[in-house]
Amino acid sequence: MAPSSSNLHLSATGRRQRSRYPFSAQTNVGRQRALNEDSILALPPLFAVADGLGGHEAGEVASALAIDTLRNHAPRAADAPALVRAVQAANNAILQASDAGIGREGMGSTMTALMVEHGKAAIAQVGDSRAYLLRGRQLTQLTEDHSVVAAMLRSGHITAEEARVHPQRSVITRALGSDPNLIVDQFEITVLRGDRLLLCSDGLTSMVDDAHIAAILNSKLDPHQAALALIDAANNAGGADNVSAIVIDIDEDGPTAHPRKRSKLWLWVLLWVLLIAAILGAVTYGVSRYTHSIAYLDVSDGGMVTINQGVPGHVMEFSLTYDSTVTTVTAGDLNPTDQSTLRQRPTFNSQAEARNELDDMVQRSNSPALQQEQPQ
Ligand code: MG
Repeated sequence: MAPSSSNLHLSATGRRQRSRYPFSAQTNVGRQRALNEDSILALPPLFAVADGLGGHEAGEVASALAIDTLRNHAPRAADAPALVRAVQAANNAILQASDAGIGREGMGSTMTALMVEHGKAAIAQVGDSRAYLLRGRQLTQLTEDHSVVAAMLRSGHITAEEARVHPQRSVITRALGSDPNLIVDQFEITVLRGDRLLLCSDGLTSMVDDAHIAAILNSKLDPHQAALALIDAANNAGGADNVSAIVIDIDEDGPTAHPRKRSKLWLWVLLWVLLIAAILGAVTYGVSRYTHSIAYLDVSDGGMVTINQGVPGHVMEFSLTYDSTVTTVTAGDLNPTDQSTLRQRPTFNSQAEARNELDDMVQRSNSPALQQEQPQ
């Protein structure tokens, strides 16, 4: 059951070991083929299955070249369009290799590539290898086969069971190495803690139906045991083709866990807003208390001295004078020094102090007219 080392590309260093997801990647020649033309990649967070086409040796060359090129063009994040570009690079590499006489003309490969991290899975797909999601014991095929029988199945001409054993089941309609303008399917899904992802070649799905695959994935909790059991099931059913299976368990929370963090962030923002509002309120109250408690002397447009509560001037458009009393004292009758002082609008701790100062000004004025009447 040991996988062929030439077909299995496992991460050897920690350079790209960002995913914490436990996984197992297995590939096996099967019971009836001499060569394993499948190639698989397990370089977390990047995983891929490539099923080579083209007969003896050429298929193995094509799938290995596809995997190598994917690895070299791997995107930096689980982004489906970026993963598609890496798969398109693999397509170009196979086409160029054919033209250069490497492998055989017409060689090709399927490609099901998966990048999964931080609760997000991006998939790029060409051919009939598949990606599945097991969630809550329910198995869902994420990818769509590019094959003749899949088209017949979609049009209702055959059943799923007939498709699985159809003599043309290996005829695929889209593959790497066939078209420079290859269209690559792409998918992005959110993955949750407890989800299990499966990538596999048609050597599994043509031998084992979905219900049996689901039963194995549900019964084998360890991903390594699950992947081995899937290979065993294909071989026990006849092992007509090379068979590959990569099982990845999602053991961390995805984006659905983030709202708690966001709500905490909003709580902090709210607390800061309340704190700033409280400080502004306290400052405004203090300024208001201060400006209400003090007074100043001024001269009205009519030349009469006024006693004012507050402080001279404005803040933005708001006057800081809350009350103004026009006295009977004419500013022009005061002595020049006090007139000059009044133009400075002198401030006092209270209206009483302001009134006392005005009384003193009147006394200093030597103006009989003023001294005959007290300022009001
Ligand atoms: Mg195959």
